[in-house]
Amino acid sequence: MSKTKKVGITGRYGARYGTTIRKRVKKIEDQLHSNPKCPKCFTPAIKRKSTGIWYCKKCGCEFTGGSYQMETQRGIESKRITKRKQRELEIEE
Ligand SMILES: [Zn+2]
Repeated sequence: MSKTKKVGITGRYGARYGTTIRKRVKKIEDQLHSNPKCPKCFTPAIKRKSTGIWYCKKCGCEFTGGSYQMETQRGIESKRITKRKQRELEIEE
């Protein structure tokens, strides 16, 4: 049986840095390895280029997102607000 059943990938840190931080790292790293899909061509070939900048290895498109996650709860929320505002403006015209 694996010794790192609970801590997963953060088992490499041993007992260092404190359990809360290790749990947070695990959450982020799990998402990094979960292969998010490209919003343009839907291929799971997304790489993090820089903080908040992501690009697709297949079609080469770049897009913004969260610093360490492709999409954040905040990002989804702000997209929804933008869409609603756009609709409101279209109605006014
Ligand atoms: Zn793509």
